[in-house]
Amino acid sequence: MSDTLTVEALPILAIAPAQLLRGTGILSQLPKYLSRYGNKALVIAGETANQVTASYFLNSDHEIIHAPAIANCSDENLAMLRRLVQQENPQVIVGIGGGKVLDTAKLVAHQCQLPIVTVPTTGATCAGWTALSNVYDAHGAFDYDVTLDHCPDMMFVDYDVIVTAPKRTLVSGIGDAIAKWYESSVSSGSSEKTMVIAAVQEARILRDILFQKSAEAIANPNSQAWREVVDASVCLAGAIGGLGGANCRTVAAHAIHNALTHLHQTHGTLHGEKVAYGILVQLRLEEFQGNQLAASSRHQLLKFYQEIGLPTTLADLGLSQVTLAELEHLAQIACQRNSDIHRLPFIVSPSQVLAAMVSTTSPILATI
Ligand SMILES: [Zn+2]
Repeated sequence: MSDTLTVEALPILAIAPAQLLRGTGILSQLPKYLSRYGNKALVIAGETANQVTASYFLNSDHEIIHAPAIANCSDENLAMLRRLVQQENPQVIVGIGGGKVLDTAKLVAHQCQLPIVTVPTTGATCAGWTALSNVYDAHGAFDYDVTLDHCPDMMFVDYDVIVTAPKRTLVSGIGDAIAKWYESSVSSGSSEKTMVIAAVQEARILRDILFQKSAEAIANPNSQAWREVVDASVCLAGAIGGLGGANCRTVAAHAIHNALTHLHQTHGTLHGEKVAYGILVQLRLEEFQGNQLAASSRHQLLKFYQEIGLPTTLADLGLSQVTLAELEHLAQIACQRNSDIHRLPFIVSPSQVLAAMVSTTSPILATI
């Protein structure tokens, strides 16, 4: 009786997929690897991913069920896919696509207790790696996240597939990955815990790799630098989240992202683009506390963002016509009681968030 309680009470560190397969043209091997789970797989993918990867399953000996293409990780899609699992009884779930599709596939597998294989088709997020799914409402606004009990059983990183994605997706992935340093150093930089120290230091290394190689990578898709940056965004960013655990994950940059998803005008921008802007807001909040280092970090980032094409202002996020009332609403959402913004080591008010959001490109000596 107490066994169940004990198991549930133990904190689980989900660091990495059990197996990571990386290379060019490796996706053709996927059906062979699926055979270890049985002979029937359910593929959950987005519209584009279905088209790009359909040929890989044509000559498979396995029964491959293709779920209807999805675009969002919503309760509605999750319920539809759980029903499909009940009907079809697959032995493994394969998620192929961007972050929202992979989050959906991981969560369905978790809920149905099936093995999960992830195939990221863009460099936009580390969702193919992590034991976390973000759920959005039917309108695309962030709703809640779910911690899964393990990272995927297998992850396929095929550079030939990822290189077909729009360039903007990797730029966005860089924005999401570089946030690891700004968020983990502020929430966990003074931790004494070995694994957390390691995670924060890896986040610093990740930031430096991105500073050094991103511009070259974006200019030369499928070059060595491009592959290193894909590895940084898709794999290392996920490893840092796994090693550091929940405390090391998200702080104000993601809280700002989550709030931004509540404005429909931002739905044309990608996750990492909103997060990148959120880092600038977070640094402004730190500057308001008199932190001059935050001001120079922000200016270093502004230069980097301009070089690779990440947004620096509300206007860049499609919010040039935003009203004061909408911004106040955003700031209120960012400061809700359960928001990750409260992982900052100081108290943040909605009026400070508002002031930070409109001053992301302020000169270095500006103070509030
Ligand atoms: Zn993120």
